[in-house]
Amino acid sequence: MRRKIVAGNWKMNGSRDLAQALVGYVRSQVESIDNGVEVVIIPPAIYIGDAACLAGDALALGIQSVGQWESGAYTGEISAGMAKDQGCRYGLVGHSERRQIFAETDDMVAAKVERLIGNDLDAIVCVGETLEQREAGEAESVVAGQVRKGLAAVTPDQWSRVIVAYEPVWAIGTGKTASAQDAQAMHASIRKVLAGMGAPAEEISLLYGGSVKADNAAALFAGPDIDGGLIGGASLVAEEFVSICRAVPAGA
Ligand code: PEP
Repeated sequence: MRRKIVAGNWKMNGSRDLAQALVGYVRSQVESIDNGVEVVIIPPAIYIGDAACLAGDALALGIQSVGQWESGAYTGEISAGMAKDQGCRYGLVGHSERRQIFAETDDMVAAKVERLIGNDLDAIVCVGETLEQREAGEAESVVAGQVRKGLAAVTPDQWSRVIVAYEPVWAIGTGKTASAQDAQAMHASIRKVLAGMGAPAEEISLLYGGSVKADNAAALFAGPDIDGGLIGGASLVAEEFVSICRAVPAGA
């Protein structure tokens, strides 16, 4: 059965106090969430140690980005091994902000996926089209290309460490979401692409991201190919994030 996951990406927001308060609150609630969802907190890297002290076993931690190299003279970068060392189980790769602002290419995504998996971390690989690409009818082909290239180096025994997050760029932080039907259609299309790559597509968790809130989460998560969500802004509001975690359908 596929894992159900809700992951909160805090981006470059918060403070040590907020990190402690948020993780403490989510942890206090997580055991009462009985739909089988795995809750992942992805704080700024500098707060991972603080988060790890409070997260316990009930919450998983992730890192927002890692360097594409194992180690070395790369000032400012954090390696996948270091994230593992600090208690992370997940790493985010290919977020549209990394692609657009930091020029992260599909080749870099592929290298980072390799680093994460090589260090025993699960890779949440973000893909998604821009508004121009959607309006030009290119959404599926763009996303398919990102999936194929970003996951090109995954070996047959590594697929269990891969999660794909579909995040239409135009929906991130804008308050707009894909319709539940469009989101489901894109997730089904991603699953087909994965199958075409020889992956065990039915076993790979696919997440939706882009302006998920407490009041739209249930509708978005209802699609049969949608296994949870990647949450930005709403993951910084403790009660709202927990409500989103509760919105994942049980046993689906
Ligand atoms: C994100 O950045 O991954 C994201 C989904 O952001 P938001 O929920 O704020 O749209």
